[in-house]
Amino acid sequence: MEHLTRLRQLLQKEKIEALLVTNPVNVVYLSGFTGTAGMLLITEQDAWLLTDFRYLEQAEAQAPAFTVTDTAGDGWKRIAELLGGTGVSALAVEADHLTVKEFAALAAACADLRLQETDSPVKVVRRIKSKAEIDAIARAQALTDEAFAHLLRQMKAGMTEAEIALEAEFFLRRRGAGGMSFAMIVASGARSALPHGVASQKKLAPGDAVVLDFGCVVDGYCSDMTRTVFIGDVSDRQRQVYNAVLAAQKNALERLRAGLSGREGDALARDVLQGLGWAEYFGHGLGHGVGLEIHEAPRLSPAAGDVVLEPGMVVTVEPGVYFKGEFGIRIEDMVVITNDGNRNLTKSPKELFCI
Ligand code: ZN
Ligand code: ZN
Repeated sequence: MEHLTRLRQLLQKEKIEALLVTNPVNVVYLSGFTGTAGMLLITEQDAWLLTDFRYLEQAEAQAPAFTVTDTAGDGWKRIAELLGGTGVSALAVEADHLTVKEFAALAAACADLRLQETDSPVKVVRRIKSKAEIDAIARAQALTDEAFAHLLRQMKAGMTEAEIALEAEFFLRRRGAGGMSFAMIVASGARSALPHGVASQKKLAPGDAVVLDFGCVVDGYCSDMTRTVFIGDVSDRQRQVYNAVLAAQKNALERLRAGLSGREGDALARDVLQGLGWAEYFGHGLGHGVGLEIHEAPRLSPAAGDVVLEPGMVVTVEPGVYFKGEFGIRIEDMVVITNDGNRNLTKSPKELFCI
C-alpha cells in the first residue's frame, strides 16, 4: 500500500492521469500479486488488477488494495471499458516493457485515449527501499556471507568452477534462500578477466585468481557480492592490483553518501585507479541498485549516473580491473545510503586470501 501511495504522488507530480503497469516485477511490487498473467491500471481514484479466470481468486487474496477484474479474453478492450467515463484522456505505458505488438493492440482498442510512453515511473519509486525491503536484502546478504565462508573451506585446486557454483547453491537453498540472484560467476585464471564469466568446467589451478560473484533471493529480494581469492600462490602483480582495487573500493565506501550523483559516486573509485594508471582496465560502472531485481536503478556510472543518491537506496560498490588473457580482480559490497553516509550490508572479510 505504501508503494502504491508513493507511486500516486509521483504520477500527480508528473501529471500522469493513468498508468498501465505490465512489467511483472512492478506488478508484484505494487500489488503483491505473483501470478504470471496480470496488469495494473492505476488512476488517482482507482486501482485495478486485470487478470483472467485462472488467477481471479489468487489476485483477490494477494492484492487487497486493488479491484480485481476479469480480462475476459481481451485485456486491451477491458482497459478501454474501465477508463471510459472516468474522464481520463491519456494513458501512460511502460515503454521499456510493452512490446511493439502489444502497444499497437492497445492503441487500437483505446482509440479515444492518448498513449504516453514512459520509462516506468514505478522504477523511480522502487529506487528507495522501505525498512522491510532493506531487511529482506540484508537477510539475503547475511546468508550469502555465510555461503562465502563455506566456499573458502571447500575450495581447492582441481575443483571445477561449476562445482563451486553448485556448492554455493546447495548451501543457500538448504538455508531457505528462494534461489540464486543470478547464475553464479566463478571465473578463474584467464577467465577472471571476463567480468561476467559464468561458472564453467574449468578446474581451479595454482596461480589462479578466482572471481566469485553471487547472491541469493530472500522474500523476493536479491543480494549481490564479489570476492576474488587466489589458489596456491599470488604473484606480485596480482597482489598489487588486488590492493589497488581494494583501495578504490574503500575510498568509495568511506565517501559514498546522499546528495552525490551516481557519476560522482563512480568517480570515488575510478579516480583512485586513475591515479595508479589502471582506470582504462576498469571497463564497467562502479555499481547498481539491487532490490526485486539484481540490476535496477540507480546506476553508479560515468555514462548513466544522473540520479542523485538518496537515503534508502541500496547500491553495490564493485570496482574491478581486468587484464585480457591474464587475470581480473573485482571486490563488491552492497550498501544502503543513509543520511550521513552509507551502511555496508556485506560483512565478508576482504583481506587478500590465498587457498
Ligand atoms: Zn555481483
Ligand atoms: Zn553487482
